[in-house]
Amino acid sequence: MAVEMFYDDDADLSVIQGRKVAVLGYGSQGHAHALSLRDSGVDVRVGLKADSKSRAKAEEQGLRVVTPFEACAEADVIMVLVPDPVQRAVYEEAIAPNLKDGDAIFFGHALNIHFELIKPPANIDVAMVAPKGPGHLVRRQFADGFGVPCLIAVAQDATGKAQDLALSYAKGIGGTRAGVIKTTFKDEVETDLFGEQVVLCGGVEELIKAGFETLTEAGYEPEIAYFECLHELKLIVDLIYEGGLTKMNWSVSETAEWGGYKSGPRIITPETKAEMKKILSEIQSGQFVREWIAEYDGGLVEYKKLYDATTNHPIEVVGKKLRGLMSWVDSEA
Ligand code: NAD
Ligand code: MG
Ligand code: MG
Ligand code: MG
Ligand code: MG
Repeated sequence: MAVEMFYDDDADLSVIQGRKVAVLGYGSQGHAHALSLRDSGVDVRVGLKADSKSRAKAEEQGLRVVTPFEACAEADVIMVLVPDPVQRAVYEEAIAPNLKDGDAIFFGHALNIHFELIKPPANIDVAMVAPKGPGHLVRRQFADGFGVPCLIAVAQDATGKAQDLALSYAKGIGGTRAGVIKTTFKDEVETDLFGEQVVLCGGVEELIKAGFETLTEAGYEPEIAYFECLHELKLIVDLIYEGGLTKMNWSVSETAEWGGYKSGPRIITPETKAEMKKILSEIQSGQFVREWIAEYDGGLVEYKKLYDATTNHPIEVVGKKLRGLMSWVDSEA
């Protein structure tokens, strides 16, 4: 089945302009959605806890900030952009008591609905508008007149108009400028978790560390190992982003290209791919999410250990020093 794609002409901005929207959370995605919807003429309020550090920032940027409970009481479209493990509690405390017939709950990621951590009543529209990019890029692209592609999906269509509402919302944050793809909650969450674990975050991080360790354990200077295994990665990824693997191989030397063809498959082996399939099945079965929620509820003990180990890794120590000497590299987290 061909994918269904939607652009600006397929979406009617007046649909979301006729609703009252609550954006819960003002982090990476929350600030981008709230500001861009506001700029698109939508009635937005931001829901944050009274002691939230993000409050001052949102107010400075001209947004009205109320508590999550108040935001949900006022709104008939609620976009949930607090961290995934926190969403259950926010749903119980602020969202559920304020749901009325025909209201809509929106998500930026399908995790809580697909794995049934949140179970909204049947008289509510449940949809997703998930930009395929970090929130700060979502906002910057919108402000520059462009957009980041989005996925939309409808999990529950109580009004029969949930998809039009989701498309209208996606237009309000610039998504239909770049293209909106229709998907399901299941496909979004399973592919998103797989991509970040296996390729984008987990896979790349271990590849970088193992390469750096191999060079430094062989006696090469950490500074050289840093440039070779981390810094240059951006230059390579830029080429891949612009023109695929073909452009990358065209731009690097023939020696690099030949060496890559020969050695790459010795690093990512059939065993690696078998492990990828295992990870995918743990995601699909819900095992990964069960373990992550248990870790979160247990106080993040192992998470903090892993965080410390990464943050104190020798490549991070030398990288911090070197980036400090490169004024053009923005090291702000
Ligand atoms: P974040 O960690 O950057 O920001 C979370 C915000 O929620 C903060 O403003 C925080 O103060 C607020 N918050 C935390 N607890 C709260 C509570 N109890 N009540 C009210 N507010 C609370 O989060 P994020 O990375 O923007 O992720 C939000 C959602 O968007 C998640 O579902 C995530 O999977 C999804 N998403 C994120 C990205 C991304 O670019 N980071 C991309 C696609 C989808
Ligand atoms: Mg984050
Ligand atoms: Mg993700
Ligand atoms: Mg080289
Ligand atoms: Mg070449």
